[in-house]
Amino acid sequence: MKQIISIIVPIYNEEGNILILYNELLSITDLISNKYDFEFIFVNDGSRDASWALLNEIASKDVRIKALKFSRNFGHQMALTAGYDIAEGDAIITMDADMQDPPKLILEMIQKWEEGSKIVYARRIDRKDTFMKKLTANLYYKFLDLISDVKIPRNVGDFRLIDQKVLKSLNRCREKARYFRGMVAWTGFPHTFIDFARPNRTAGATGYTWKKMFRLAFDGMTSFSMFPLKVAAYVGLFVIATGSAMFLYISFDALINQTNYPLFKWLVTVIYIFMGVQFILLWFIGEYIGRIHDQQKERPLYIIADKLNLERENVLDPLDVR
Ligand code: UDP
Ligand code: MG
Repeated sequence: MKQIISIIVPIYNEEGNILILYNELLSITDLISNKYDFEFIFVNDGSRDASWALLNEIASKDVRIKALKFSRNFGHQMALTAGYDIAEGDAIITMDADMQDPPKLILEMIQKWEEGSKIVYARRIDRKDTFMKKLTANLYYKFLDLISDVKIPRNVGDFRLIDQKVLKSLNRCREKARYFRGMVAWTGFPHTFIDFARPNRTAGATGYTWKKMFRLAFDGMTSFSMFPLKVAAYVGLFVIATGSAMFLYISFDALINQTNYPLFKWLVTVIYIFMGVQFILLWFIGEYIGRIHDQQKERPLYIIADKLNLERENVLDPLDVR
């Protein structure tokens, strides 16, 4: 039995790219078709152009093509989710439809996978994006790196290969706010990188509006960091510390130097300190909400990478039970 490789491609108004990509994929995968079988999974994420008609056309000639059509636009990460849910491959590759993720890298990815990497990321060393996109992406990744609980690789998009083991763990994460770059890193399997220069898209326009990009950025931050909740604690501590210092100062000044402070100055100081107390209480509530948030993500509690002298039946393996 040949091993299967799944290739998942989210499609949002990509009528100008589908055939170019498909032909390229065919010529690349043909090179190793003696070793592997391929399935091409296209997820049409509510395209409003001829994308679905094109997919119909190529799927009728090639049974290896599996296509899903969303009822509306659910977003890139949801399209990836649907693809992951139906993928049957031993290794699963996700890539964009617009040729910004060069199909020829697939061969290198598979090679790294054969060498034992469970996750192979394609890393952009040179982004051909606008200055603003480069700048915001850079700042965001730096910030996320600083605050997040798992190490999320830099300059890595959703062009990657994952092993079936990683897929099974991922598919057990049913959180609604999905940020796969973080989720894949969270599974903790060994990974490697392939560097590439990211070209411009061949046809059409980006489906990532600023709104969608901000949502993705926020999903990344809130799913992998409790830092925003802890801000209240830092503000509270700062306010209480400065307020107390102020209170001590005017108290001593009044007692020792007999300075006469009007009532409103005392009041301002006391109210300021209690504002700090409120921030601390807000942080307490935040910690509880953080725990609820963590719970509702329903991620597996742990992931088993390997086992010795244990049959499948007698080990509680999160990859086997749901
Ligand atoms: N995409 C999608 N749903 C969306 C937006 C984009 O499925 O709401 C797909 C799109 O067809 C492409 C991939 O996600 O295959 C990456 O999108 P795009 O190229 O527009 O993003 P960019 O490369 O500009 O970040
Ligand atoms: Mg693109």
